[in-house]
Amino acid sequence: MRIAVVGGTGYVGLTTAVCLASKGHHVFCVGRNENKIAKLRKGVPIIYEEGLKEMLCNVLSQDRLVPTTNIYEAVQGSDTSFICVGTPSQKDGSIDLTQIREASKEIGMALSKKKRYHVVTVRSTVIPGTTEDVVLPQLESFSGKKAGRDFGLCMNPEFLREGNAIEDLLHPKGLGIVIGELNRRSGDVLFEIYKGFDAEILRTKIRTAEMIKYARNCYLAKDVSFANEMANLCQKLNVDYELVKKGMKMDHRIGKTGFLNAGVGFGGSCFPKDVKAIIAKAKQLGFQPEMLEVTIETNEKQPLKAVQLLKQVLGELKGKKIAVLGLSFKPGTDDMREAPSIKIIKSLLSQGSEVYAYDPKALDNAAEILKEERIRFVESVEAALKNADACIIVTEWPEFANPKIYHFMKGRVIIDGRRVLNPNKLPKGFTYHGIGFPEMVKT
Ligand code: NAD
Repeated sequence: MRIAVVGGTGYVGLTTAVCLASKGHHVFCVGRNENKIAKLRKGVPIIYEEGLKEMLCNVLSQDRLVPTTNIYEAVQGSDTSFICVGTPSQKDGSIDLTQIREASKEIGMALSKKKRYHVVTVRSTVIPGTTEDVVLPQLESFSGKKAGRDFGLCMNPEFLREGNAIEDLLHPKGLGIVIGELNRRSGDVLFEIYKGFDAEILRTKIRTAEMIKYARNCYLAKDVSFANEMANLCQKLNVDYELVKKGMKMDHRIGKTGFLNAGVGFGGSCFPKDVKAIIAKAKQLGFQPEMLEVTIETNEKQPLKAVQLLKQVLGELKGKKIAVLGLSFKPGTDDMREAPSIKIIKSLLSQGSEVYAYDPKALDNAAEILKEERIRFVESVEAALKNADACIIVTEWPEFANPKIYHFMKGRVIIDGRRVLNPNKLPKGFTYHGIGFPEMVKT
């Protein structure tokens, strides 16, 4: 099949485009930024995702991926276009549909000259109703054609996890595939693309597909906030949350949920923005989504728990040098959107600390967001630790689980925001505290 991926310079668009090309499809990877498209043509992946570079070079060498800024040619030359553009939050938390409107307009204009049947597929996360109430009218008005008759329309939510994106896209068995379709003919085109995948396929109305994506993200975000609340309570009760979690997971009804790790809260481009967007929509409909509001409130406070633990151990933070280990919102990605590290670093700075920040992949993105003289972005974990009075582990990159790296430290205080270390394995002389850990440990 021939596919145009619109938003091909983003996390979802690029990984989707490369994976579909690796499956034998001919894919136009459509972006707006000339520099990024030029880099992609040379095999430079522009975002970090394990295995992406090799796959990109491979599909380019086989002429199956065409990075381009020409959306007109891409739509003309393809059977379906996938809209993978961003749907960020507005100031009030509601969804910003600017990129969706523009992409729909551009695809509509290209469709006006197209003779063959074409299916437009929304893959971006959009509030229920958006595909039919925003995308469809844009497509009709700029193409002069009728949806359902002259062109098809689908909503196919994306469930990939950054850091596992390629595996999730190529082997979506544990995630499933949802095809929201305007009519059977539209959905059949997507069904053809996915029929070779080992995954359950659910065909629904468009609005249902849109809601499935929000319901999933709200459910998972709620689990994280629940875990953090339990961990905070465990700390007050002098109980180790890790053991409580283990005990909870022995119950088969709970074990499957899997999102019970306590830490400094969820971040990224999905959970915070999607939960806020559906809250805003619910309120607009006169519905008070209380559980979702608490999910966000709990999460917003959680990064600062790590700073509170640090103060408990270290006292005054003014003038102290603190190493922040891990900046991206999760391991396996360079994505800094809504990363808990941002709040933690801002809080440390506001209390007069000097920050040594290290991340294996996200240093450049972090430096763009956190423009502050008192932050030293350093290129190795050793450089971060050797200057520091204390460190906070914010993102659970595997290298931080190695107790040997803490030998580099000037001071000997470790705050474990992700529970990656076992304090019993640390050498003598350290003070360790972690989220949901019963009490400070001196080794
Ligand atoms: P992103 O901001 O990384 O990517 C969006 C890209 O679209 C940008 O590169 C932008 O330049 C490009 N773009 C915007 N308008 C365009 C146009 N008219 N033509 C061509 N390119 C255009 O966002 P993302 O993280 O990839 O997310 C995209 C969508 O997928 C969002 O709705 C998001 O909620 C959803 N989603 C994201 C993830 C994730 O893990 N990132 C997972 C599932 C779903």
